[in-house]
Amino acid sequence: MVPFNKPYLTGKEAHYLYQAACSGHLSGNGYFTKKCQHFFEERYGFGKSFLTTSCTAALEMAALLCEVRAGDEVIMPAYTFVSTANAFVLRGAKIVFADSHRDRPGIDEDAIEALINERTKVIVPVHYAGVACDMDKIMALARKYGLWVVEDAAQAVESFYTDKNGIKRALGSIGHLAAFSFHETKNITSGEGGMLVVNEKRLQARAEIIWEKGTNRSAFFRGEVDKYGWIDVGSSFLPSEISAAFLWAQLENLDAIQQQRTRHWTAYCEGLQEWANRSGIQLPLIPEFATNNAHMFYMVCRSLQQRTEILQTLNENGVHAVFHYLGLHNSPYYRNKHDGRVLPESDRYSDCLFRLPMFFELDTKDVIAKLIALSY
Ligand SMILES: *Cc1c(COP(=O)(O)O)cnc(C)c1O
Repeated sequence: MVPFNKPYLTGKEAHYLYQAACSGHLSGNGYFTKKCQHFFEERYGFGKSFLTTSCTAALEMAALLCEVRAGDEVIMPAYTFVSTANAFVLRGAKIVFADSHRDRPGIDEDAIEALINERTKVIVPVHYAGVACDMDKIMALARKYGLWVVEDAAQAVESFYTDKNGIKRALGSIGHLAAFSFHETKNITSGEGGMLVVNEKRLQARAEIIWEKGTNRSAFFRGEVDKYGWIDVGSSFLPSEISAAFLWAQLENLDAIQQQRTRHWTAYCEGLQEWANRSGIQLPLIPEFATNNAHMFYMVCRSLQQRTEILQTLNENGVHAVFHYLGLHNSPYYRNKHDGRVLPESDRYSDCLFRLPMFFELDTKDVIAKLIALSY
């Protein structure tokens, strides 16, 4: 069976885990945590970056930092993972779901403005498959209406957006805040893990306090205050040094990991083009302003029935392909809270999109051969 995902070990993980274990500093915010955070800040021009226990936790920190309260509204695509919404629902927000773009599962940027009103506080673009949303449009709306932008960059490590001035900017460096995931299904992993990027300078001091359970402990350790205490809300958002040590081994090999995934992605694309055209199946479209970080290889079928048949046959033939995201506006938890608008593109991706296996040690030839043996 070709699995859907297989976490890749670079070979240095055990070494750094041992080093962390022997260092005597096992809790968070130590040597490896700082090394990982600096890596991102330097390489991508991110604002202050904080490792977290997950992307979910990073999104929860973002909701606290934006001071989202009961009655506030948050705009995001319906076609996303539950954590994008849950983080804000926990603060009492109402989620206003936008439809997906016709050409890609990310948010339809032109559908956002009509959803903004005086209660709107945050826009959350999700860079689905690591493919950028049109951030110029989204940041312009944020400026016009005074809103926060939180990038859900869970899938978007090493992905870029070229803005209207031709400047190439890393995803996660554009919004006021951004959240990344290092879950084992993502390009770079520590098993469970994440990171909050705080680009907005006004939010950086408070982010550190929320991260440290509502205390000014970090300032105390830097010698900036002579005692530390409870000064704000917060929670336990830091991962241990054990997780950070594992993550560091992955980051050191980021380029090799990305090259390999990109080879797989390109092989899929070239190997399946003709079959997809013949079967009326859509391959991923990468807009001009975006790059592709080979996080995911997805295809979009003509119908739910076609997708069901393909997935069944693939699984019978030893390839674990999957679909995902029931649009959150149709979910058992939120459908009664949703305002009833129909989101046809989101529904289409829910019904018709599927994902092929994608991981470092993958043999794409095998998967391609099995797919093109199917005729439609
Ligand atoms: C994976 C993912 C998350 C959640 O990440 P965790 O690290 O598992 O909390 C959130 N949003 C999107 C779009 C994701 O793909």
